[in-house]
Amino acid sequence: MSEVATSLVFASSNAGKVRELDALLAPLGFKVIAQGDLGVSGADETASTFVENALLKARHACRATGHPAIADDSGLEVDALNGAPGLYSARYAERANRGKGDAANNALLLEQLSGLTGEKARRARFRTVVVLLRHVEDPSPLIASAAWEGHVLDELDGEGGFGYDPLFCNHDTRESAARLDTATKNRLSHRGKAVAELVRLLRQEQ
Ligand code: IMP
Repeated sequence: MSEVATSLVFASSNAGKVRELDALLAPLGFKVIAQGDLGVSGADETASTFVENALLKARHACRATGHPAIADDSGLEVDALNGAPGLYSARYAERANRGKGDAANNALLLEQLSGLTGEKARRARFRTVVVLLRHVEDPSPLIASAAWEGHVLDELDGEGGFGYDPLFCNHDTRESAARLDTATKNRLSHRGKAVAELVRLLRQEQ
């Protein structure tokens, strides 16, 4: 496993995720290579659970590069929307023919929650599953998951992060995730916690 501990292909083209993963893993001695830097495009996310989609992505990156790969599949679950946008967070607006990308997703979310006031009514969490495949036919991938509790704000707040961060008031610091620097977000977030667990599992094997 020691070769796994040096170089990992990250199966994502999301610049925000790449920045977070690199900040989490580089200080621990891992070299994170975004799959796009190796000319690999994203896999189709055709599954109906986070864990299956994460495995699809990691397997695709392993197959294309011949290297161990790490992938995360994640989303925002809003209680008042029965868990939507959830698995479809990245393409929430696109699936509703309401445009594409973070700004369109955030606008639709605000619209869907209009009229709902108070933290309880707007309760939400980010969820992620992170997987590591040592090789394309790895029968026992490392898998870790985590959530980050909070609620959806009434308006955009903050300039940092990506995705739904400007609308997500996290219940650890009680401020918008887009106001946190990368190190603070990684200490608290779903992705930060899941990657820490994955590293713990990986180290157990060494
Ligand atoms: P996927 O995992 O690539 O399918 O996309 C996950 C989507 O969920 C992102 O495109 C964001 O819209 C949202 N998301 C996941 N994690 C975060 C986060 O940490 N901050 C903000 N949005 C997130």
